[in-house]
Amino acid sequence: MTTIANDPFALQDPALLRRQPYVDGRWRSGDGAPIAVANPATGASLGEVETLSPAAVIETIDAAERALPAWKALPARERANRLERWHDLILQHADDLARIMTLEQGKPLAEARGEIAYGASFAKWFAGEAVRAYGEIVPTPARDRRVLVLREAVGVCAAITPWNFPSAMIVRKTAPALAAGCTIVLKPAETTPFSALALAELAQRAAIPAGVFNVVLGDPPAIGKAFAAHPAVRKLSFTGSTRTGRLLLAQAAEQVQKVTLELGGNAPFIVFDDADVDAAVEGAIAAKFRNAGQVCVAVNRIFAHESVAARFTERLAARAAALKVGNGLDPDTQVGPLINRAALDRVAGLVDDVKTRGGKIVAGGKPHKLGGLFFEPTVVAGAPTDACIWREEIFGPLVTVTPFRDETEALRLANATEYGLASYFYTRDLGRAFRVAEGLQFGMVGVNVPFVSSECAPFGGVKASGIGREGSRHGIEDYLEIKTVWVGGI
Ligand code: ADP
Repeated sequence: MTTIANDPFALQDPALLRRQPYVDGRWRSGDGAPIAVANPATGASLGEVETLSPAAVIETIDAAERALPAWKALPARERANRLERWHDLILQHADDLARIMTLEQGKPLAEARGEIAYGASFAKWFAGEAVRAYGEIVPTPARDRRVLVLREAVGVCAAITPWNFPSAMIVRKTAPALAAGCTIVLKPAETTPFSALALAELAQRAAIPAGVFNVVLGDPPAIGKAFAAHPAVRKLSFTGSTRTGRLLLAQAAEQVQKVTLELGGNAPFIVFDDADVDAAVEGAIAAKFRNAGQVCVAVNRIFAHESVAARFTERLAARAAALKVGNGLDPDTQVGPLINRAALDRVAGLVDDVKTRGGKIVAGGKPHKLGGLFFEPTVVAGAPTDACIWREEIFGPLVTVTPFRDETEALRLANATEYGLASYFYTRDLGRAFRVAEGLQFGMVGVNVPFVSSECAPFGGVKASGIGREGSRHGIEDYLEIKTVWVGGI
């Protein structure tokens, strides 16, 4: 296919680039203020997207409500077929989708491709769950009665997604909703709308009916309020900051909507004295610097046993310093830019804070010489316990290493946070693997492994990190309501 000269996207399939909200099966002209989108690697404009007024968002929810009965009544196999088609189309267009993502979000192209495949895997997984949403027949105390437990679609769902995984978070929410027989109205992050709209284009091609999957853009607080106030919306699924999550949870109280919240993290990474230190270094690099550290399951705090701390820190610092920082479109790039100026300033502020309090910078520590939104991969040793990085989610390419004496102290330090999303530790002692996995107050634990997300495994947090689980056979539960049917006179 031809590409337009000077078109930064230069897609093989230019029709994937959409600039309008997707409402009731159509691309709808905006009636709100347009949003400008920029490439964080270069600052160059990627153009604008049109947005909707609150009234148009309400009309979108109305459309999702109208589409609900037919979609819910469609045999599960039919819904699954559409999800499988969506999965196949996403993979067929993976190169274009990855390019859109790198341009608007900044992550290295290889990571963007990985995210597209990861996101698509949820469409396939939940196509499988759609046809297995079994009910129950319960033994009852009376001979002439039966109790049936049905699992029904919750209804119209609303979803709000972040910019750090602009594609996968959308499929991870939309696929289980559609599998369950729900319809959905999605508001993606304003920074990364093109990835969301390209998924809508492919949903349309996958014959997902009008009104079943809708993408709205506009003023986030106004859209959040519209979601909370509309009586048809029975569920909200949100991935983002704990601050916004708290606000949305409070708003959901008004109509007692079900909620799934995937919020912030403050992941510990413990290296025990019996660990394979080289594997732990590689694990820490992967779990920290992927997506420039802008990941809710990214490592924030490393604790290394005092007998291995010096060796571990030295190797980690050397590996971090050698990471190639640059434009995500460059195939050598391992760490891309931060999403915007505020993110860069926040990371720089955290580094200044820990330095002032006596922490030692052992790698990086300042904005990268490339300028713009690039920051050096940074490792800090001996961060004092009053430093801000102990409490705050870092969301950038910065990590601290702190020595500990024994298992009890490691667990105490790791658990000393309001968050409880991901945690990691490295050990070769089987007994310790069980004790520590059980002692960590986190929704997910990686033992000798730096990744904790896959379509086959529950993903989610405890404490201030959220409510509910996504992925796995549990992921569809949040989109299903239980209905009990008593049958008498048998
Ligand atoms: P971040 O600070 O990393 O952008 P947010 O939690 O603010 O994290 O953003 C995650 C998503 O929540 C984005 O889509 C954003 O537009 C949306 N959002 C932010 N504030 C609100 C709000 N008051 N109501 C509804 N959505 C919001």
